[in-house]
Amino acid sequence: MRIGVLALQGAVAEHIRSLEAAGAEAVAVKRTEELDELQGLVIPGGESTTIGKLMRKYGFMEAIRSFSAQGKPIFGTCAGLIVLADQIEGQEEAHLKLMDMTVARNAFGRQRESFETDLPVKGIDETVRAVFIRAPLIKSVGPQVDVLSTYNDEIVTARQGTLLAASYHPELTDDYRLHAYFVDMVKEAAAAGSKA
Ligand code: GLN
Repeated sequence: MRIGVLALQGAVAEHIRSLEAAGAEAVAVKRTEELDELQGLVIPGGESTTIGKLMRKYGFMEAIRSFSAQGKPIFGTCAGLIVLADQIEGQEEAHLKLMDMTVARNAFGRQRESFETDLPVKGIDETVRAVFIRAPLIKSVGPQVDVLSTYNDEIVTARQGTLLAASYHPELTDDYRLHAYFVDMVKEAAAAGSKA
């Protein structure tokens, strides 16, 4: 499995390390042509407005939508989750609009800007170590979205078919099980694609 990490801005190297620990081959992606060689893509944390701007500048909006339309999985973490969402609270324009959900940016307020917790995630046996940094929350989801975890009754991990989104940074810990979960999604999608 060859999985790319969108390398326009944000926590790229850490995702590459976690994907490799989960048994995939991982590469940084800077140009749209590189997507052709990949079976899955991670959109990392960072700053969603900056990532969105650079995606528009380098042609990634259409390229990633078509990547997703081919049934190839995408995993967005933190700012990457914001980039996947259909709607961003208080903002007129969203970015990729691939996942049927409304998100709120910097949703934990100043008191809790950054913290770590152990999070139960549906489909993963034991709790996942999650690092939240100026993190977004998923305020509402559409019917096709499966909620995988909540923190204080707010949604922080969700999946819609081949799309996976987490509010936090799973790549900043040694716990790579959420990456392994994504690698499994990529394997399943690749197997389904080759049968079609
Ligand atoms: N606060 C950032 C944003 O709104 C996301 C933070 C992160 O990715 N750690 O884009």
